[in-house]
Amino acid sequence: MLKVFWQEPDAPRDSRIIGSCGGQPQLNVGDHCPACLKCGALMPYFFTVDVSDVLPGKLLSLFYCISCTGNTVPEFPATPVSSPISGAEAQEVQKDYRLHLHSAEPRSADVFSPLIHRPIFGKTPRSNRYQFSKIGGEPTKFWGAEDGNIHKLLLRIRESDDVRLARSSDSPKQSAYKLFDGDPDFIEQEHYILVNGIPVYIFATHDEQAAFLVTGRF
Ligand SMILES: [Zn+2]
Repeated sequence: MLKVFWQEPDAPRDSRIIGSCGGQPQLNVGDHCPACLKCGALMPYFFTVDVSDVLPGKLLSLFYCISCTGNTVPEFPATPVSSPISGAEAQEVQKDYRLHLHSAEPRSADVFSPLIHRPIFGKTPRSNRYQFSKIGGEPTKFWGAEDGNIHKLLLRIRESDDVRLARSSDSPKQSAYKLFDGDPDFIEQEHYILVNGIPVYIFATHDEQAAFLVTGRF
């Protein structure tokens, strides 16, 4: 398990760089960013983290729509998380976001990256109990604990992390996001947030060919 620190000031001195926000991914996505299947806009590149602690040699990269995610909620696989989920199903539900589970590869073209480029830090903890962002380890909520269908946790982002990704000054603002009644209005216009700051769990499928995302307050 690896603790993840999104901001340099939060990272302990003995942590190491495990990825970055913005910039360019070591990923061949063709000529341009993937298009959102809900609104058609090109989804900008957000970040890459090294998940080789969980899947040797693998990086996890995220593209996320900033045009329609004020009105959409990421879809979950129809298969319960406690059961094996195929790579094909995981990819099918990726409409307003796109996860790439990949090796470091030469990129084909520059992708649109609206974030201020900065490193993400990680540190191996002494204890396995950790409540904030992490790579690997156990999720807060157990799915399939009884039947042994535990998907490998690639990345967990907790609400308490308050992850805000700094927007470059010339980049478009994210559309306002209000998922549930009672959620605060999205006023943080200088940053992007993922799923209104609701906890995000990204798992590997059982075939380890793809990743899927689950969100919720648990
Ligand atoms: Zn969209």
